[in-house]
Formats: sequence, structure tokens, C-alpha cells
Amino acid sequence: MSDASSQESRRDLMRTLPAVHELVDRLDTSGVGREVATGCARRAIDAAREAIANGSSAPVETDALVMLARQAIDREARPPLRAVVNATGIIVHTGLGRAPISERAAAAMRDVAVAAAPVELDVASGTRGKRAEIVRSLLCELTGAESATVVNNCAAALLIALGTLARGKSVLVSRGELVEIGGSFRLPGVIETGGARLREVGTTNRVRIADFERAVDGDGGAILRVHASNFRIEGFTREVALEELVAFGRREGLPVIHDIGSGLLRASGLDVLREEPDARSSIEAGADLVLFSGDKLLGGPQAGVIVGGRELIERIESNPLMRALRVDKLTLAGLGVTLQLHRNGELAMRELAVFRAIGRSVDELRVRADALAARLGLIDGVASARVVETTAYVGGGSNPAEAIESVGVAIRGAAIGEGELARRLRVGEPGVFGRIEGGEVVLDVRTFEGEWDDRVVGVVAGAAGRKE
Ligand SMILES: *Cc1c(COP(=O)(O)O)cnc(C)c1O
Repeated sequence: MSDASSQESRRDLMRTLPAVHELVDRLDTSGVGREVATGCARRAIDAAREAIANGSSAPVETDALVMLARQAIDREARPPLRAVVNATGIIVHTGLGRAPISERAAAAMRDVAVAAAPVELDVASGTRGKRAEIVRSLLCELTGAESATVVNNCAAALLIALGTLARGKSVLVSRGELVEIGGSFRLPGVIETGGARLREVGTTNRVRIADFERAVDGDGGAILRVHASNFRIEGFTREVALEELVAFGRREGLPVIHDIGSGLLRASGLDVLREEPDARSSIEAGADLVLFSGDKLLGGPQAGVIVGGRELIERIESNPLMRALRVDKLTLAGLGVTLQLHRNGELAMRELAVFRAIGRSVDELRVRADALAARLGLIDGVASARVVETTAYVGGGSNPAEAIESVGVAIRGAAIGEGELARRLRVGEPGVFGRIEGGEVVLDVRTFEGEWDDRVVGVVAGAAGRKE
């Protein structure tokens, strides 16, 4: 074909393309509105025009364009953030939104989300109340503290606690606890932002009460103990017991703030959590304030909980920062129900996904992994799917030493590498997040519920089946 005639046939093909409005008339625009639908239609036509310009000589069916535009509209109509499968082996995964909340908490959050809810009203008297009232008595009951309040997250709890108690003063912290929890949470930075002065005590691996005595500078605001949750110092180490620190604080007139991080309310009795500090023990040991997250081991929505003495909590609640760090009605509703579940250990174990994940037996996981591997192995684009022993972690700043024996399925694509396979799984429907290990994608079955297994098979089929 000469250049002239191929140009001619290209023009003919272009002329067969429908007008944008013709395409839009065949689309259901109710979910996204006409403007967005028009954009989808235009992009479908543009793509066809570009293909023709690049030499494609296949005739373009309008029906095919309608289909493309419909798919684009479906994508536009999807919420930007949707549920995915956590097959990473990290139970509380910050990148994946931390703890899934219980169905009951989700229902309570939905209930207040779509209606009015009295967050700042004393219902009986009709007068203004405080937000924290909604969860205060539950928090006191569960931790043994005199009072409690709630802010946006644990970093905010620390910020407002230090800003209230130690603004312009020094904060004594053991050197081995000057941690970075992840992201931008670095203790020295938080202390500085809170307007306090960091006073490092002892050495990285060894701290004695005498070190604290030497560090007191007459301008102290508080003593801070932080659960060095995501790492561990081993070997020649020495720590000051919380009780000792509390006694020292009393002598010096300095309140002791204990950031326990992960939000265990009381000793769990679970072996993997044996080194995890809990709020009740810390209050019993005399800590003046105990801080923890709502969305780690507590299994609730994102929140920062502060429990402790009534007078200190009142001072914190009068800090103007409170207005900037306060929680909304959804958080209060979800946290309230989560705390109700924690009143009963069995209920909490049954209804909270984090505890279910910790509690699954290896035998139970192996049965699931066996079945999954068998099904995945039958998929065309899967070269191999084998059951592997894995190590899962509580995560969320819990101790990395708390490794949990677990089971996974390691898959290898026939036509694609592990990186591409992992990527396709992540963008699947739903997204499946595993980890890459030695040329395979490993899906740890501890960190997701068995009811997702069928959908995982579907996603792997979609991801591995295609050859691009
Ligand atoms: C996770 C963690 C924090 C930060 O909690 P957020 O709720 O993410 O702000 C602070 N301190 C400790 C010890 C933690 O483990």
C-alpha cells in the first residue's frame, strides 16, 4: 500500500469513530455524573484514534468503545481507599492501616457517621460536655486509672502530655529509649515539638537510678519512659524498673509518663505478648500518665489514649492544643465499642481481628495453606505454589522478638518475575499484599481471614494468567 492510500484508509477509519456525545448517551452516568462520564468517553475515543494513527488497521466497533468507557467509569466510581488482603505476615501493619476493627465497632461507627451524635453534650442535662466522657469510664474501668482522655493518635498524646507538663522544662529520658517508631515519629523530635528540652540519661545499654539522680537539673518537667517497641538491646544491659522510676519521680516531684505504644489494656496471658507492657500494670506501678495507640493491639480506630491521674488529665484537657488534636464522633463510637469488647477476654479474642490472627494455630494455618497451594498450583500462569514455613510478627511497634511461627504459600509466576507478580497482586481486585522472598511471592495466611481465600485464588489467577 502506498503512503497516500494508507493515509486515506486511516482517515476512513477515523471517520468511523463515534462522537463523544454519542458514546456518552449509551453510558450510565448516574454513579459519577455527566462530566466524569464524558471524560471517560473522550479518553476511550482518543485511545482508538491514537491506535489508528500508530498504524492499527482494525476497524473500531462502537460497542467496544462503550465497553471501555464503562470500565473507566467503574474505576472512577470506586472509593479511592478500599479493603485489601494483608498477606504480609505483619499483623498490625501501619502501611495497611493497622488493626482491622471489629464488626461491632464498624457498625457503631457507621451508625453515627450518617446521622447526628451527641459528642459534646451531656445528654441528661442537655448542657455542654466533654468528648472524652463517652469513653472515660470504660477506660478507667479497664486500666484502673483515675481518669482518661483521647486524642488523635499516640504521637498526639505524647505531644500534648509533654506540652502540658513540661513546656519549657526538661524531660528525662533513658538513652536507650530515644527511639524512632517509624515514619516521622522520632522521640527527640516529638519532645522538641512539645516545647520541652530533652535530657538524656545513662548510656544506650545501661541506665541506673543514679543516672537519673545526676540528670536532674532543677528545671525538670517530667520523666518519660518509652516502650522501645520495635527493637531490642541485648547483652550487657540494665534498666530501671518502672516502680523505681516512679519512686524517684515522687521524691523529685516529677510526673512519670509511660508511653506503652501498642495498647494492651492488661496482661494478655498470650505467650507472644509476654514482653508487651500493659496499661493496667503500668498504672498499678504508679505511672502518672500512660499513653497508647487505639489501632494497634487494642484493635480499635486510630486514636491516642491517655490514662492517669485526674488532675493531670484535667490540665491536658484544658490545653488549647486539645482542640487541634481532638477525635471525631466516628472514633469515639468505634473506640467505645472496642473497649466494651475488652471487658471480656473471650469476646475480645473472638471479635478482634488482631487477636484472632495471633491466636490461629499453626495446624489450622497449614490446612488453609495446603488447600490454597493446591488451588493456586492449578492456575495456568503459576509455575509453582508451595506451602512454606514463615515467621509472622505482631508489628505496629511491638517487639520484633515477638516472632510467631506461621505458614504461607510461596508462588512463582510462569511468565513473569516475582516483582511483577507482586505488583499485579497489589493492584488486583481486591489487592493482595504479600512479601517477596527468594524469587517467590509469599502469602502468609496468618494475617488474613480464611473467608478471603477464595478471592485470593481469583486475584492470583487474574495476575498470573495474563501474559504481557
Ligand atoms: C506506635 C507507637 C507510637 C506512635 O503511635 P501512633 O498512634 O502511631 O501515633 C508511639 N510510641 C510507641 C511506643 C509506639 O509503639
